[in-house]
Amino acid sequence: MAKRDYYEILGVDRNASQADIKRAYRRLAMKYHPDKNPDNKDAEEKFKEASEAYEVLSNPDKRTRYDQFGFAGVKQDFGPGGFQWTDFTHATDFSDIFENFFRGSDIFDSIFGFGRRDRTRRGAEPGEDIRISLSLSLEDIANGLEKKVKISVLETCPDCNGTGAADGKVSICPKCNGSGRVKQIRQSFFGQMATIVTCPECNGEGTVIKNRCYTCRGEGRIQKVKTIKVHIPAGISGGQYIRLRGEGNVGKRGGEKGDLLIYVKEKEHDKFKRDGANLISEYYISFSQAALGAQVEVPILYGKIKMHIPSGTQSGKIFRLRNQGLPYLNSSQRGDLFIKVIVVTPTKLSAEEKELFRKLSKYDSKTISKSSKGFFDTVKDYFS
Ligand SMILES: [Zn+2]
Ligand SMILES: [Zn+2]
Repeated sequence: MAKRDYYEILGVDRNASQADIKRAYRRLAMKYHPDKNPDNKDAEEKFKEASEAYEVLSNPDKRTRYDQFGFAGVKQDFGPGGFQWTDFTHATDFSDIFENFFRGSDIFDSIFGFGRRDRTRRGAEPGEDIRISLSLSLEDIANGLEKKVKISVLETCPDCNGTGAADGKVSICPKCNGSGRVKQIRQSFFGQMATIVTCPECNGEGTVIKNRCYTCRGEGRIQKVKTIKVHIPAGISGGQYIRLRGEGNVGKRGGEKGDLLIYVKEKEHDKFKRDGANLISEYYISFSQAALGAQVEVPILYGKIKMHIPSGTQSGKIFRLRNQGLPYLNSSQRGDLFIKVIVVTPTKLSAEEKELFRKLSKYDSKTISKSSKGFFDTVKDYFS
């Protein structure tokens, strides 16, 4: 369906005043509201179309851009899918229409932001999450561990039992009658407009306290230092976090508890680098070991393991030791250990060694052949 001109949708001419535009929109909104058109998709579409037109034409800046460039001038004001109900910023201007007719509907929820962010909260506010970070070594990550962490957390005040009242007496808020919400009436061009807002008297809690608890100053919670046992699973990575539900701050005056979030950081290891579940390290060998081959012991995360260096090993060659890497998270599988062998050129030679190398050098022209592959190609082969 081709998009209709905004002025045409609202049935006003291009010189229409803001008041004309508002009047036209109100008329259409009343005509297409779902109470009068139950299960009528066409009416719902028309209502949305009119709301988009109003969103643009009621705003002088958007209207000017629309007048000059058409739809292209206002395209950036909406998401890639075009105008959505969440883009409509005038619901409160027509709260009589929206609140009466759409309460409980999807349209109402999306334009008033319910479900995502309840603007008229009711009851005690939930407590905050606590975020801490934990630095782990590769050894910790390899095995997983139980770690005790100390946190400073807000807990229920024992003196008032979390109520915040010295005498434990909490009364219903007289302003909102315990609902936590109040209607705000204001005058506008079209008469009285009602909006529902969080009760300012009780801040949406629905209750008020006369005598505040001295210990917690009426908050119903106090700071405490607590030790918590955290289970760190093997194979976890830096940047991931563990969430412990209900271990965060308790809310004010009986609000729900927040969570404890433990962010994992990885400590640098002096021997190994990590690539997912694989480990990478370097191992140094001598000329003669490279030329003749050798049985060596290479370090793994815990201890050492025997590895065979075949004769004729070039510097930079990568060996793969299966299952000597880290465990995968929540799995019994392990990654591999990649060892890059580096042949060390001796720097301080004795007279005898010099003599031997001189003798060997006679064969240099035979031994140096062009290397067929560079180091990076070799690494690529292993990791692909
Ligand atoms: Zn208290
Ligand atoms: Zn209240």
